[in-house]
Amino acid sequence: MPLAQRIRDSIRVNGPMPVSLYMLMCLHDPEHGYYATRPSFNRDFTTAPETSQVFGELIGLWAAHEWLAMGSPESVRLVELGPGRGVMMYDMLRAARAAPGFADAVRVTMIEASPALRRAQQERLVGRTLEYFPDLEAVPPGPAIIVGNEFLDCLAIRQYVRDGNGWRERAVGLAAGDELVFGLGPAAELPERIIPVGDQVEVAPGLDAIVEIIARRFRKDPGRALFLDYGPDDGSPGDTLRAFRQGAQVDPLTDPGACDLTADVDFPRLRQIGLREGLAVHGALRQGHFLSRLGVWERAKRLGAANPARASEITAGVSTLTAPEEMGARFKAICFAPQGAPAPAGFQGSAP
Ligand code: SAH
Repeated sequence: MPLAQRIRDSIRVNGPMPVSLYMLMCLHDPEHGYYATRPSFNRDFTTAPETSQVFGELIGLWAAHEWLAMGSPESVRLVELGPGRGVMMYDMLRAARAAPGFADAVRVTMIEASPALRRAQQERLVGRTLEYFPDLEAVPPGPAIIVGNEFLDCLAIRQYVRDGNGWRERAVGLAAGDELVFGLGPAAELPERIIPVGDQVEVAPGLDAIVEIIARRFRKDPGRALFLDYGPDDGSPGDTLRAFRQGAQVDPLTDPGACDLTADVDFPRLRQIGLREGLAVHGALRQGHFLSRLGVWERAKRLGAANPARASEITAGVSTLTAPEEMGARFKAICFAPQGAPAPAGFQGSAP
């Protein structure tokens, strides 16, 4: 496996590799990384938009509602971070046609690291103009509705472990026989503003960066930013790095580049960064609650009545999205808005 060989070579030359760099190489190596080589990754895991069309449709109606609440700007960027195979954007745009004027105002804007997935998005959304930017920072100013489903969980994490003398960064090293193993790097400082709870800390520095960029935008231009992802109700426990292959959880060190690598999203921390940056922060709410408040069952019923042959499949999909024992409780929705903006749809009544 060529990526495994390159990782071993790098460790031999540079010493143990921080978990963050390991994750970046496995996911984003342009030649052998997971996203670059697996445009059909839905066999490894199924995301909400791929579970039911109702998910993207509701997010589309949500976006149209927020556009109205922003005063219906003549032009608005609908920015998706990590659009995968373009399913959510496709369903959003179809449903949002119900809002007069919205479809014409929207400029579809995508942030996607993987060339293979960019192609899949262009195929799915053929006929639409898609504007791509390398990252959120590069998106030109102006009103924007930003969405990301299962995007934050693939940002690289750093992990720290406290031993007798202090903190050390968790790293990937080599054991006898060239096997990749977890170990500890040299003594390290914890990143700024981290208050450890126990002897293990996990942080995704990218979370801070994204919220800071959103805050800078929303100080000047109207907007909303909605993220859906999975994470525990309270802060992140020390180690949530996981690998998935064909629906099963596997060891993150086997077959680098062939498995999806993810970590839980630390929603309390996201909230804290948003507040520190002066944003209004709504949620995190459980996905099941959020979708119910947006009327997921009413929509499923109507869709089922119009397509009786698919009614039970539609009900099953919506149950998977909302049932607490499936995606309803582990997945959360959080929304950032400029100070003073009205509470976004689905978040009314939850503390800003
Ligand atoms: N939102 C989709 C796909 C989720 S998988 C869905 O719900 O089905 C994560 C997506 O984020 C993939 O499209 C991946 O290529 C993209 N991605 C991950 N890290 C990224 C980064 N740093 N910059 C841009 N895109 C990234």
